[in-house]
Amino acid sequence: MSAKRLGLTVLGATGSVGASTLDVAARHPGRFEVVALTAHRAAEPLLALCRKHRPRYAVLAGCAPDSALERRFAEAQCELLFGAQALERAAADPACGAVMAAIVGAAGLAPTLAAAAAGKRVLLANKEALVLAGALFMRAARDAGAELLPIDSEHNAVFQCLGRAPLEAVKRVVLTASGGPFRATPLENLAAVTPEQACAHPNWVMGRKISVDSATMMNKGLEVIEARWLFELEAERIEVLIHPQSIVHSLVEYVDGSVIAQMSNPDMRVPIAHALGFPARIDSGARALDLGSVGQLSFERPDLRRFPCLGLARAALREGGTAPALLNAANEVAVEAFLAGRLRFTAIAHVIESVLDAVPSSDAPDLATVFAADARARRVAAERVAREMGEAA
Ligand code: NAD
Ligand code: MG
Repeated sequence: MSAKRLGLTVLGATGSVGASTLDVAARHPGRFEVVALTAHRAAEPLLALCRKHRPRYAVLAGCAPDSALERRFAEAQCELLFGAQALERAAADPACGAVMAAIVGAAGLAPTLAAAAAGKRVLLANKEALVLAGALFMRAARDAGAELLPIDSEHNAVFQCLGRAPLEAVKRVVLTASGGPFRATPLENLAAVTPEQACAHPNWVMGRKISVDSATMMNKGLEVIEARWLFELEAERIEVLIHPQSIVHSLVEYVDGSVIAQMSNPDMRVPIAHALGFPARIDSGARALDLGSVGQLSFERPDLRRFPCLGLARAALREGGTAPALLNAANEVAVEAFLAGRLRFTAIAHVIESVLDAVPSSDAPDLATVFAADARARRVAAERVAREMGEAA
């Protein structure tokens, strides 16, 4: 190991992936140095993290300057910056070599792109960045010589299974999905499920937005789009299988008929440690996998009547251009409304479908076009949520 420590910035440090990242980094104090930590508005949790991990500075992206807070962070020897612009500074800071992109949603795009454009090692958890602007993002990363390492467990698994194999050797990849908490719920009961039930994922502990996405399987739809860009694979070569035990994180099938899978207990520290240490292997803190006690691994094809969001995501990917950005924005609005008790679970897919029907997609040559599509889809989605509420009342 080199004497110089790798400077690490964690965007979205107060979230679920942020916590797992800092847990892994803290196991290797001789290897990693935390440069910056960011959060949206959670000042107290961010301050607690700063006391523990001693970054040079911290960012509250969703807060206006506040001198009392600045003083409290200064007491912890940490400079505090405010506003979304400061995220981009943290992402591109020369002191950091690696950036964990763990902000949730479209808000992660600009700072994640800044990290890529600065040529960092980008640990990509924020799948929405690739869903919104896959072509632009991949080009920026390539031009700057950034090293993209997938954190999403499925994509990290594919990355591991691919090794150095050329793309022509790959027949297809299979992304696994747990099927979420409602895999076996009678279809007629889905309309009445609550946010608490939707967020009670059987295998993973995650932020609330991705938990709902897992319950609708929009998460897997977003991941198909993410895989398309990360691995330069056509959609037809990306399959989805439900695997309720969440032990096999994905598989790669080669032209010779070999299928390589990556397995571990469901713990995000495994892909995070893989990407932080790459190409070395470092301790993640995860429990060792004991297949003898797991006993059985099972697989089934997803039912698109139960999971219409998966079909909507595939349709948006086929359409291309700004369509995935429209899909993502409509999904963010619908999930937020569901979590706030303003939309039925089954209406999430209705809202997204009606936004895709109402807002035409276009080419996505630049970020301004992508953000305009995102904003328009959010406006239309908010109207559709209001209409669904009216109909439900
Ligand atoms: P989370 O909700 O637990 O945390 C989100 C983080 O982003 C928080 O630190 C929050 O302060 C910050 N944030 C939220 N809105 C922001 C904004 N507008 N501007 C700046 N910062 C903002 O989310 P999570 O579950 O950790 O997921 C983070 C990302 O990783 C998502 O894109 C998700 O899809 C992806 N991911 C998560 C998991 C998981 O196990 N949690 C697995 C795979 C991929
Ligand atoms: Mg995943």
